[in-house]
Amino acid sequence: MTAKAASAPSPFVERSDLVSWGRVSRGVQRVARPGFRDELSGLPSHAGDESLLAIGPRRSYGDSCLNRAGAVVDMSGLDRFIAFDAATGVLRAEAGASLSEILRLVVPKGWFPPTTPGTRFVTLGGVVANDVHGKNHHGAGSLGRHVRAFGLLRSDRGALTVTPESDPALFASTIGGLGLTGVIEWVELQLVKIGGAHLDVEIVPYDNLDDFWSLADESARSFEHTVAWLDCAAGGAGTGRGIFSRANWIDDGAYDLHDDKSWKRIPLEAPGFALNRFTVGAFNKLYHRVNSAKAGTHRQHYAPFFYPLDAVHDWNRLYGRRGMLQYQCVIPRENQRDAIAEMLRVIAASGQASFLAVLKTFGDLPSLGVLSFPRPGATLALDFPFRGETTLNLLARLDAMVREANGALYPAKDGRMSREMFRRSFPRWEQLLKDPALNSDFWTRVAQ
Ligand SMILES: Cc1cc2nc3c(=O)[nH]c(=O)nc-3n(C[C@H](O)[C@H](O)[C@H](O)COP(=O)(O)OP(=O)(O)OC[C@H]3O[C@@H](n4cnc5c(N)ncnc54)[C@H](O)[C@@H]3O)c2cc1C
Repeated sequence: MTAKAASAPSPFVERSDLVSWGRVSRGVQRVARPGFRDELSGLPSHAGDESLLAIGPRRSYGDSCLNRAGAVVDMSGLDRFIAFDAATGVLRAEAGASLSEILRLVVPKGWFPPTTPGTRFVTLGGVVANDVHGKNHHGAGSLGRHVRAFGLLRSDRGALTVTPESDPALFASTIGGLGLTGVIEWVELQLVKIGGAHLDVEIVPYDNLDDFWSLADESARSFEHTVAWLDCAAGGAGTGRGIFSRANWIDDGAYDLHDDKSWKRIPLEAPGFALNRFTVGAFNKLYHRVNSAKAGTHRQHYAPFFYPLDAVHDWNRLYGRRGMLQYQCVIPRENQRDAIAEMLRVIAASGQASFLAVLKTFGDLPSLGVLSFPRPGATLALDFPFRGETTLNLLARLDAMVREANGALYPAKDGRMSREMFRRSFPRWEQLLKDPALNSDFWTRVAQ
């Protein structure tokens, strides 16, 4: 530690309320929250021998955004816009800027993020570090393809401006690099043009997985956004039944914005037993019936279409104090039909299914990151209320199926994958140009 750092008060405070979205991993975490970029370079000396990790609002489900053996840098104070060219749609902003704030700036000018995850309460740094994907993966690929440059602060090389051309290896390491290649200080992103804030959304209820594959194939050709919600409590002939939704932007010049203030809240943690085979089965049947009645095409604002869950603040508390594990895998195209069918059968029979199951096909556009998750095939994502060994055993069975099918698991959603599973999911993992001063709980588990 330097003499200056030793005499200055430490910017780190201990917090025990810092959990990730799944709320399973708990513990005390040392946290600093800088308000200006020039404070970042002093943090390692205050951290002493401890490793650091930059984090956003922890919308990652597991432990990739935690570093309980070291300290974290909460980037939410670094949320300023640096430059926005409304003619070209190039935005440069600090890494702590949230998608919600970005939308407020860019939508009225006719621009939108090139792809977006299912929540707008994420930061630029977070979405780059996970190379996130959205409902338009088949046409746009994952987010990293639209990143023009970023500022990266490394403990061994100082502050760098990285573009795909200036340092291809560091660029590829940092896109989807789980925050381990340096602190991303700012990001420059190419946005996409929109002619209004609404989409034509077609809801297509379907009865089984075969129908899903046909709909996915057909829709990828003429719809920019596609996704399906699955009733994963349904077994037998109904395995994989669900609601397919597909959408294109409408060019009507109506650029109204979303409203974050209209959130509903979950006031208390739900009791752990509230989600069980019977309540979930009943909810899924009801959801299927209600949405089947809405079949057809409707004009919908981008907020309920892309961010339906954002309408309920803290919905993760529905899973009770023990929290939940999300499981998201991708299965290569040649194995997707058999593997997904088998996984859904096992999940339905387990009675542990939750109501949030999503199935989507990824397109062929390559992801740029060494640890990027999206690849051609189909991705299945679902939540499981955490019930200890019972849940872990089920997920281990699913792992075996993913392995057998040469698939991969998504670190952003994971809090438990084994070293072996990680290494098989990301065979190039040793190429990651890790910053020696950074670490995370996830990395300690899978790579050390
Ligand atoms: C309701 C919901 C829907 C979702 N839907 C999708 C989806 O459709 N597609 C998808 O891909 N993901 C999805 N996700 C996951 C989410 O988009 C990612 O986990 C996202 O990266 C979280 O961003 P964050 O800002 O909360 O970052 P955190 O979760 O806090 O951190 C994520 C990672 O980014 C790193 N990081 C954060 N900031 C920086 C920085 N400045 N410098 C370096 N590293 C940094 C962290 O170290 C960590 O490794 C969803 C999550 C939720 C809760």
